[in-house]
This record gives sequence, structure tokens and C-alpha cells, in this order.
Amino acid sequence: MPRPIVARISIAALANNLGVARSMGGSARVWAVAKASAYGHGMAAAVSGFSQADGLALLDYDSARLARELGWTRPILMLEGPFEPDDLVTASALDLSLVVHDRSQLVWFADHRGSPLEVWLKVNSGMNRLGVSPADVAELHGRLSALPGVARVSLMTHFADADLPDGPKPARLRFDAATQGLSGDRSLANSAAVGLHAETHADWVRPGIMLYGASPFDDRSAASLGLRPAMSFETRLIAVQHLNRGDTVGYGSTFTASGPMRIGVVACGYGDGYPRRAPSTTPVIVDGVRTNLIGRVSMDMLTVDLAPVPSAAIGSSVQLWGPMLAVDEVARHCGTIGYELLCAVAARVPRFVQD
Ligand SMILES: *Cc1c(COP(=O)(O)O)cnc(C)c1O
Repeated sequence: MPRPIVARISIAALANNLGVARSMGGSARVWAVAKASAYGHGMAAAVSGFSQADGLALLDYDSARLARELGWTRPILMLEGPFEPDDLVTASALDLSLVVHDRSQLVWFADHRGSPLEVWLKVNSGMNRLGVSPADVAELHGRLSALPGVARVSLMTHFADADLPDGPKPARLRFDAATQGLSGDRSLANSAAVGLHAETHADWVRPGIMLYGASPFDDRSAASLGLRPAMSFETRLIAVQHLNRGDTVGYGSTFTASGPMRIGVVACGYGDGYPRRAPSTTPVIVDGVRTNLIGRVSMDMLTVDLAPVPSAAIGSSVQLWGPMLAVDEVARHCGTIGYELLCAVAARVPRFVQD
């Protein structure tokens, strides 16, 4: 018997969410962002679930190779660009489009002898992470465009504050000014901007989190946006304990029973990617009924109160997040965002990709 933990990935949910992003994005083409192994969902699920996307946006070259092996034939954009000159050889071989975010990368393109590469020149519009200075955009666009190793130059930027009503406006204005009159497609919008800022949609949108059925907003649920959770993180009860008043649970004895109670021991811990910092109030679904965590999460197990589910027993089904419990709600209890929980699901958790 394998350990009962599994992450079930719904292709139908991924496809539904892509459809939502596409209709919100208007006429823009869609880069389906699938970095971090498709936000923890796995490349195989991304390649089938996003078959109607115009391209995949990734950042590690092994994932790009895997996507090609899995049959992805449309464009692939490498969001952090080349890390070393050899990556241009890989990009030619796998037909990858590359971000250029720093002028030091130009010499690699000047020396490039493989098939000409599609380039996305990334502008630092104020986030101060990746991107060339707005003042340098026209010069670098011109120099890249003139290189035989470069097929075409497009333009992109990334927003720091797209989840706020006027958040991306200063960045958008800086980007527009820096790129005015230059040839090439434009791409600016992540999920939050797809949902909130139509003026940023341009030629290509770049939704990530929304495609997996989590919300890019603090104050709007994924369900209210028409998104469906693509991951159901499931396991089972592997033991039941009966406590008396004064008994404690788990490492550090952080939970003390105030009276007789039944608790369930769940086969999932921080070694599976469940956050250790989840407090005792964090919801967990047992046999379809909402209850909550008690005591500390350990590496391979966590414990739940069985008072709301008297019929629960060894073998009862457990959902940590998924269709019955939004990952965003679990994340809120843990002081983080759905992105982090999804990406953290450990490699030891098998992914079952289903329709
Ligand atoms: C991750 C990423 C995205 C997608 O962001 P979401 O908030 O998940 O929609 C888009 N563009 C870039 C450059 C990214 O790194």
C-alpha cells in the first residue's frame, strides 16, 4: 500500500481557468505561466490543461525540455532569460523565446550562431527586480534587433502592485513612454492585472495563479471570479486517539484537551509541503465535514479534532485544500498566500492527473 497522500490535478479545471483568463484578457494572446513546475501541479498537467494557450511561460530549462518531450509545440517564454551563454544553444534546440533583462546578456546574443531567437526585452518599470532601465530601452532594442542571432524583439514588464485599483498605473506609464515607437509585441499583465486593469492587456497577458484556481486578490475569492481549484490535496486518517481532560497532543504539547475528545491523525505533514506554521484554527475537511487542526504539524502527520465528524475512523478521507476548501483560505490562516502553499507541495506527493 502506498502512503495515502495524493495531489489530484484536474485538467478540466485548468482548462476552465484558462478560458476565464482568456475571456478577461479580451483579444490578448495568453502566455500560461507554469514556472515552479506549474505552481506545484506538474508539467504534464500544464501541457494538457493549457493546450489552448498561445504559449507557456517557464524559467528553468529542464522544465522547458520536459514540456517539449510532453508534446508542447507552441512558443515557450523563459521568464528569467539565459543564465549563461550555453542557454542560447538550448533555446535554439528547443525553440524557446528568451527574456533579456540586463545589457550584459547582449554579448551572448552577439556571439550566438544557432537559429535566430525570439527575444523579449524586459523593462524595469519600478519593481526593481529584473529589467533594463527605461532610459536604455530604445538603445538595447536597436542593438538586439540588428543582431543576426535575434529573430525579433518584443517588449515586456512586470507589475509590483497590480492587485490595487491604481497600483500599476505609474509603471504602465513608464513602460509606455520607454517603448513608444519601438516595434514588437507588448506584454505587461499578470493575473491581478488581467482581472483588474484592461488597459494593461496589450498583445499578450501572462496569468499564473488564476489558472490554478487561486485568487490574485486578498478580497475576492477565486470562486467569485469563476475559477475552479485545479489541485485537490488529499489523504486519509491513519489513526484515531481518545483524549481525556489534560491530555496533550504532538511535539511541544501545544494542545491540551479541555475534556474527553476524539482526534484524528492525518497522513500529511510539513515533509509533504503542508505549512508547519498552520495554527490550530486552520480548517481541514474530514469525510466531507469541516473541522480544524489541533497541535503542531509534524513532518509526516498532523492532527485534527473529530468532534464535528463522530463517524470518522481510520481510513476516513481528508482534504487539506481543494474543491471543498480553498487553498487561499488555508493560506490566510497561515499568514501567507495560495501561491506559496501550491508551490510547496513536496516532490514525494504523487500527482494524479485526471480529466
Ligand atoms: C509569475 C509571473 C507571472 C504570473 O503571475 P501571477 O501573479 O501568478 O499571475 C507573470 N509574469 C512574470 C514575469 C512572472 O514571473
